[in-house]
Amino acid sequence: MREKGMDAIREHCESFVRERLAPAEIANDGRQTPMRGHPVFVAQHACACCCRGCLNKWYNVRKGVELTELQQQKIVVLLMAWINREMRE
Ligand SMILES: [Zn+2]
Repeated sequence: MREKGMDAIREHCESFVRERLAPAEIANDGRQTPMRGHPVFVAQHACACCCRGCLNKWYNVRKGVELTELQQQKIVVLLMAWINREMRE
């Protein structure tokens, strides 16, 4: 049951990153990630992966350029590691 829950969270995580962070142009960048409502949103703020502004500031990810598959995967791995750690406590 618990494993299934984590699979679902990972799927959401992948689609949030793909749809809200990966595009080169994001209309509401900086406001696309709610502060609460989903464990992935919370993780995104905790890890500075909430918007392209934060990715640029903390990870030197260029703005205005679509994220590569590898960059997206790295973000998902980072966020899932954070969520796993939070849930263990
Ligand atoms: Zn941000």
